[in-house]
Amino acid sequence: MGYRPADAMAFPRFEGISTFMRLPYVQDLQGVDAAIVGIPFDTGATYRAGARFGPQAVRNGSRLLRPYNPGLKVEIFEHLSVIDYGDLPVVPGFIQESYHKIVEGLEPVHRAGVVPIGVGGDHSIVLAELRAAAAVHGPLGLAHFDSHSDTWDAYWGQRYTHGTPFLRAIEEGLLDPARSIQVGMRGSLYDAGDLQEADRLGLEMIATDELFDLGMDATAERVRRRTGDGPTFVSFDIDFVDPSFAPGTGTPEIAGPSTREVIRLLRGLRGVNAVALDVVEVLPAYDVAEITAMTAANVIFEFLSLLALRRAG
Ligand code: MN
Ligand code: MN
Repeated sequence: MGYRPADAMAFPRFEGISTFMRLPYVQDLQGVDAAIVGIPFDTGATYRAGARFGPQAVRNGSRLLRPYNPGLKVEIFEHLSVIDYGDLPVVPGFIQESYHKIVEGLEPVHRAGVVPIGVGGDHSIVLAELRAAAAVHGPLGLAHFDSHSDTWDAYWGQRYTHGTPFLRAIEEGLLDPARSIQVGMRGSLYDAGDLQEADRLGLEMIATDELFDLGMDATAERVRRRTGDGPTFVSFDIDFVDPSFAPGTGTPEIAGPSTREVIRLLRGLRGVNAVALDVVEVLPAYDVAEITAMTAANVIFEFLSLLALRRAG
């Protein structure tokens, strides 16, 4: 048996130092299948800042999670050894230095055959996460859930922000656009041309209007078909979720999916070959009653369930 959470029947869930799901805090990658990795960098944000406190909030919001997923019918830790790897050191205010440290922190995780689940931090971190993953696995497919495409070129002349990482990743050859899909885009834009960007880059996009027309199961099927069986990065910006269910975030957009719909969609991703995943943009200062943190924790719970099912075969 590998690493698994503390037993809530022996040790009540409000006790103990916070780790994700009260998993062991371990930095030895031997015998590990998946690792929760906090990446508390938030100075790539263009509007509200404060996602540096995301990882700790998500850990606290994960305390109530139990090991069995009844929706996917899997006891995660029967198939998967999981640790909380702690946080990577970042340099607040200095994105290039932080990227360097994130890559340095994640590459050994990939080389050890461990699937990292990054917890942000703002979405700028995904560029470094993709650099580390692509260095080991080659160009990746992408399943990107977000109310924004994050493929803008620059903000105030700055090319590295939380609004630009996927354009940079394509330019750097980290992604295979033919195996990449973006889901959930909505809200006001700078101009009509923003909508053509996915096409220009060769990405598939299912904006929120189409997501609701198709439904969650058919959308999940499109994501599975697009990403195929190759190595895939799953990136989940918490602002994909409607702000009434996830108010604690930096750039909220109204009229999105409920948590119920999000869970349904994620459960449909069974079989995706995820070599790395992340949940970003949790900003606890704007949260209410931990709902955003709990939503992020439950998204990770679904990720772990999908990894466990894939491992179980
Ligand atoms: Mn984003
Ligand atoms: Mn977003």
